[in-house]
Amino acid sequence: MADYDYDLFVIGAGSGGVRAARLTALGGKRVAIAEEFKVGGTCVVRGCVPKKFMVMASEVSHALEIAEGYGWTIPDATFDWPTFIHAKDVEIGRLSGIYAANLGKAGVDLVHGRAVLKDAHTVEIIGKGRTITAEKILIATGGRPWVPADMPGIEHAITSEEAFHLPELPKRILIAGGGYIAVEFAGIFAGLGVETTLIYRGPNILRGFDDDVRAHLAGEIEKRGIKVILGCQHTAIEKTETGLVNRLENGMEIETDIIMFATGRVPYVKDLGLETAGVELTEAGAIKVDEFSKTTADNIWAIGDVTDRMNLTPVAIREAVAFHETVYRDNPMAFDYEAVATAVFSQPPVGTVGLTESEARHSCPGEVDVYVTRFRPMKYAFTGSDERVLMKLVVDATSQKVVGVHIVGPEAPEMIQLAAIAVKAGLTKAQWDAACAVHPTMAEELVTLKEKQTPANVSAG
Ligand code: NDP
Repeated sequence: MADYDYDLFVIGAGSGGVRAARLTALGGKRVAIAEEFKVGGTCVVRGCVPKKFMVMASEVSHALEIAEGYGWTIPDATFDWPTFIHAKDVEIGRLSGIYAANLGKAGVDLVHGRAVLKDAHTVEIIGKGRTITAEKILIATGGRPWVPADMPGIEHAITSEEAFHLPELPKRILIAGGGYIAVEFAGIFAGLGVETTLIYRGPNILRGFDDDVRAHLAGEIEKRGIKVILGCQHTAIEKTETGLVNRLENGMEIETDIIMFATGRVPYVKDLGLETAGVELTEAGAIKVDEFSKTTADNIWAIGDVTDRMNLTPVAIREAVAFHETVYRDNPMAFDYEAVATAVFSQPPVGTVGLTESEARHSCPGEVDVYVTRFRPMKYAFTGSDERVLMKLVVDATSQKVVGVHIVGPEAPEMIQLAAIAVKAGLTKAQWDAACAVHPTMAEELVTLKEKQTPANVSAG
């Protein structure tokens, strides 16, 4: 066997790459990992973690409104963006440092720089005059924001990457897109007092989510002051003396201070040298892998967003574990993508697991039972707020298994993690209901839903 510098070389120190590198090094292999930016990747540096800090900063304004109803007077509550951004960046730096330290403790060599493939066993670290060989290579380079590059004036728009570092909070923002990032950032900016407009090309936000969730959330975010414009496409952006003007297909022109495009992310494969190593892409531009995350090259694997399977941090981590078990522990393991719970940190947030109602109607052999409740959370009793929680259970009527759970409301992400255990375990509606309620909570509704939705009792909430 050829004498390689390492047993495993990982390209990209995000959630997936770091987990695979650590597990493999702890298993006694010689492992190196390359990272061109900060260790931690999208999730830690420019995604989930800083985003959640921004959501928490933004939610304070809502908490202050609720507090007033409970008799609190909080004079002169003000928010200072630079103070928050500094605190967030210090924490992100700390977390990135922990990731790097944990790699070191596991015995992984960290290579600061951009690694590109020279052949199936060799990477070059660009600008460092260094090449490294490895028996096996794992690509975990993640994704990058995508914007319509041919739209006139697109250079004036930002993406989520820049939104984490705006020098000051704008007075007005316009967000393009209707997916996770668009909806989450619209909530963040609206909560911080920014006049926020969300423009989405489709008939309703969050395509792919349950239709009741989509309709409910669109209504709730409007109650929080976000202007939602649907069925509209952008044609151009123009810089003027007073801001940016966004021209829309329908002839509308909207002036704003910042335009953020949240129109999806694409696998980060540019100039990686994949073709020199025999690594093929799918038609959509992701690295083509089999169920064990193996690419079309015999000694190269790929995990996480660069494979565009299910672009979520915990999934990348599970793919890393499955890679390690398959390749280094003689235990072939393929990640099971069924019933993965996910949360959208909109305000209010969404938690969802399993099938939407329409998916269930297509895939369940017989009828589908649907249980829906909409109610005003107890917390808002003393506020003028008209906000409603939505909870929905989708049940396969033949097996009586709960195949989908969808929640919009405070703490939905926390609730859905627990509901996911029951959905993944394939519990029936009767088994859910056998769990006694915890009172008074919102979650108790999940085990006390009695009335099936019928055409006669459907309500728009
Ligand atoms: P999404 O794929 O969720 O949403 C992209 C949005 O952009 C969609 O509404 C899409 O519309 C719209 N869009 C795409 N192309 C165009 C276009 N040419 N013109 C106008 N609109 C367009 O991507 P995000 O960037 O929001 O997030 C990327 C991924 O990252 C998510 O899918 C998710 O996997 C992950 N993520 C997860 C989070 C979480 O777990 N909380 C948070 C953030 C991201 P259409 O629906 O019509 O295609």
